[in-house]
Amino acid sequence: MSMKTLSVQCPSCKKNVLMTKDSPFRPFCSERCKALDFADWAEETHRIPGQSISPNENWDERESPTEQQKKNW
Ligand SMILES: [Zn+2]
Repeated sequence: MSMKTLSVQCPSCKKNVLMTKDSPFRPFCSERCKALDFADWAEETHRIPGQSISPNENWDERESPTEQQKKNW
């Protein structure tokens, strides 16, 4: 029976990470990936829904002829 080192994929960058004490940030490959993933998770959790502003809201007004254009006739 051979010794098989268990490895996982880093949730941030999908790099193989060995599940040993040589990988202090497992299942992440590095401290950076661990921090990145936590930042993503925190952002998702605290995002308030329904805050996005529709870019189409005032388009009708902008597309219609202006007073300036009417005077040119
Ligand atoms: Zn990584």
